[in-house]
Parts: sequence; structure tokens; C-alpha cells
Amino acid sequence: MRLPITLLACAGLLAQASLAKEPEKLPGSRVLQTPVKAEAQQKPAGRDLTEAEVAAMVKARLEAMRKARAARAAAEAKAAEATPKGKRSEHWSYDGDTGPAKWGKINPAWAKCDSGSRQSPIDIRDGIRVDLEPIAFAYGPSGFHIVNNGHTVQVNVVPGNRFMLTGRSYELQQFHFHRPSEERIEGRSFDMVAHLVHKDEEGRLAVVAVLIQEGEQHPGIQAVWNNLPLEKYQPLAPVIQFDPAVMLPQRREYYTFMGSLTTPPCEEGVLWIVMKEPIQASRHQLDIFARLYPMNARPVQAHAGRLIKESN
Ligand SMILES: [Zn+2]
Repeated sequence: MRLPITLLACAGLLAQASLAKEPEKLPGSRVLQTPVKAEAQQKPAGRDLTEAEVAAMVKARLEAMRKARAARAAAEAKAAEATPKGKRSEHWSYDGDTGPAKWGKINPAWAKCDSGSRQSPIDIRDGIRVDLEPIAFAYGPSGFHIVNNGHTVQVNVVPGNRFMLTGRSYELQQFHFHRPSEERIEGRSFDMVAHLVHKDEEGRLAVVAVLIQEGEQHPGIQAVWNNLPLEKYQPLAPVIQFDPAVMLPQRREYYTFMGSLTTPPCEEGVLWIVMKEPIQASRHQLDIFARLYPMNARPVQAHAGRLIKESN
């Protein structure tokens, strides 16, 4: 079979168009693009090409693009390595010069912390009461590891725990804690909150917030505290399994609204689900977290006219 030359021309244009789209941030990328363009000019003119010739030329272009991408990634990694750590401005905290009021200015990538209009957490009030679809949690005993990441205690869970809502399936990635609770309900703050962070197949985030108040000892929280790593940033993988369902309250009514991550980069488009019923933890359990993180809650943010729905 013989293919018309126009097909090859199209393939060539496509290849060059996608190369042109890539930003020419680094000197290496320009050098690497030149052979591709030169090769495109060498195409035999005046006759139709065989299928094999077309395939070989397309393959060569794809290979050149792949090499250009790899070289660019390597150069970027090298540049990042060369930047002194102190100048990367990736440090943030809950008070002082790197506290919440400064997050948006510390790093340009965190501008949303200042300029966003759907920021979290919020003081939940004036919700509309409707019949909300029940959340179908499908959690089960899972492998996990715990890391003290310098901002909170975080439990990373192996894939396979999900909840279904409005036809979407969100997979649990990790959960972590804040003290006091970041969310407020009609002005009321709680002792702590657990944020269970989920992601759907298209990368959309959904966070289930479970408020924690002083009361009975909680077996799930105890399992996490029992296995706290001794050093920051060094994950500990216990041999036991953990069922994230233990973190959910018995009653499943909830508030829901759109918001953001409550830590830099404060990315928006996050679906929030705040369970109405708090779970309990003992005073001793609350005190253990307070020893590590006496205060790791972002202040409440403006409602900015967003709609809040709540279960009847
Ligand atoms: Zn959180």
C-alpha cells in the first residue's frame, strides 16, 4: 500500500507542533529540536512513500521528541538540585514569618492561598437542608505507613479503599490530623479533626473531614499513636493492618461544599464532605498529638457566597 505524501506532512507538522508547544526554558532543548526539523526537510519529494518509510520517519520523530523531553527533564532536575535549599521557599508553618497570612507570598505557586475564592477551612453555617445521597464507603483492612511530615501525623494507606458519590469513585490516599479542628460548625471549634484525602480517576480531590471531641478512647487513633515514628520524615510501616472505616462516625449525615487544600499550595476544586457527628478520643490521646503539634490549623476563610448543602 502506498500513502499520499500529505499524510507524512501532517505527521511531521503534528510532531513539530507538539515540540513547539513545549517551553524553551533551557538551552538544551533548542539544540535538540534542530535535528528533528532538519530531518523533516530531508523528506523525499516528488513520489509517494511506502508504508514502511512513513512508519520509520514517524518513529524517528517520536524518538527525537522522547529524547528531547528526557533531556529537558534531566536539565530541570539538575537546575533544581543546584538551587540552594533556603532559596526554594518551600518552608511554611502555622505562625510567624512563614504562617498562614504569608503563605501566598512565600512561593508564587501558592498564590491561591491569598487570591483564591474557594478556600478552606470555613465556619460551616447557613447550609441548605436537603436529602443528600448517602456516601457509600468501601473501606477495609489495609496496609499503611505513618509519617510525621513536619506539619502533621499522616497515615498513607495502600490503594483499594474508596467511597462512591454522585457516580464518582474516590480512592483514599491518606489521612492526617489537625489540632484544633480546622472546620467550625456555627462558630464551634472541636478538639481535633481527621482529614481523609481521596482522589478520583481524573485527579479530582475529595476530603472527608471527621471532627474529634474529647470522650472515650478511640481504637483507630490509638493504633496510629502506638506506631508513631520516632523521627520526622522517616515513615514507619507497622505489620498490622488498619481499617480506615474505624475513623468514620456511626451516623453518616454530612455537610458538603467546594473548597481547597488547607495547606500550601491551597489548590481549589476540592470537594469537601464534613461528617456531622464527631468521633471521640480520650484526653490522653488528644494530649499525645498536642505534644507533637500544639497548633496546626489554618484559620477559617471567607465563605465568598459558596453554597453549602447539609443532610436533613
Ligand atoms: Zn488537612
